[in-house]
Amino acid sequence: PFELKGKSVFVAGHRGMVGGALVRRLEQEDVRLLTIERKELDLRDQSAVFAWFSKARPQVIFLAAAKVGGIVANNTLRAEFIYDNIAIAANIVHAAHLNATEKLMFLGSSCIYPRLAAQPMREDSVLTGPLEPTNEPYAIAKIAGLKMVEAYRSQYGSDFISVMPTNLYGPGDNYHPEHSHVMAGLIRRFHEAKLSGAARVAVWGTGAPKREFLYVDDMADACVRLIKTYSSSELVNIGTGEEVTIGELARQIADTVGYRGEIVFDTSRPDGSPRKLLDTSRIAELGWQARTPLKEGLKLAYAAYLSEQAA
Ligand code: GDP
Repeated sequence: PFELKGKSVFVAGHRGMVGGALVRRLEQEDVRLLTIERKELDLRDQSAVFAWFSKARPQVIFLAAAKVGGIVANNTLRAEFIYDNIAIAANIVHAAHLNATEKLMFLGSSCIYPRLAAQPMREDSVLTGPLEPTNEPYAIAKIAGLKMVEAYRSQYGSDFISVMPTNLYGPGDNYHPEHSHVMAGLIRRFHEAKLSGAARVAVWGTGAPKREFLYVDDMADACVRLIKTYSSSELVNIGTGEEVTIGELARQIADTVGYRGEIVFDTSRPDGSPRKLLDTSRIAELGWQARTPLKEGLKLAYAAYLSEQAA
């Protein structure tokens, strides 16, 4: 096992939902946490990143920094999604190598798997077929990142690992009406509809696509466990093993929020992948499973939304 105790641990992307959850989880460990604000360090800027690393010299890195968003953001900001994410991954992985970082975890996404991969999606299905077009630029950047991790491990013997979380939700999510992911987008839309007394709420697409949702604090817990115990070029999926249709999710969010009006489907909006269920047998064998059921996670996420609105 890798000794985390006493190490300097850099969480790249600590202002994001995932990085924030990692910081909360790492506060329970005996480590020296390192973070840096975006205005102090642009992670896309290679020379700035290299200069910061040679001073900060983190021993451990969680690479949770990324430009992220929902189906509309991914599909419209295609250049930003591919450039920003390739630059961030390339700069940090190489800086970790140059500064002899002891361990690095790269966080990917379930969208790296082919659009029509056999369900549930096994780690070895990466690069076996065409990607979902709406998020192909993001997926290609994430595939570049995981291939870097693999290459640095094979050429230099670096102890770098990659994990692939399913769709995440929870505190610190981005609630932008157009650019958010489905969970945050619908929490906000149902909440605002409840307040305004709107008779109906539109959910994008047909409602038929299926998604798997993991509460972000569960994800952070899995990451801390894996950084201590896992060392291999093989990816590790992190999910719950359970899926729900978008229509059913919308009903559950409406219930959680207390919205009693009608739910309609706006089929002028894209559905994206028909299904994205991760095969979680590898992480189950490593002795980890998700703790927070969707129903409970929805309550926690709505409470977090309300307190973040108030703040
Ligand atoms: P994806 O998993 O990469 O497709 O990302 P999203 O979380 O953005 O979308 C998941 C599914 O939810 C897609 O089928 C969307 O069309 C659907 N969806 C329904 N309503 C919304 C919404 O208000 N925002 C978003 N982002 N997606 C929505």
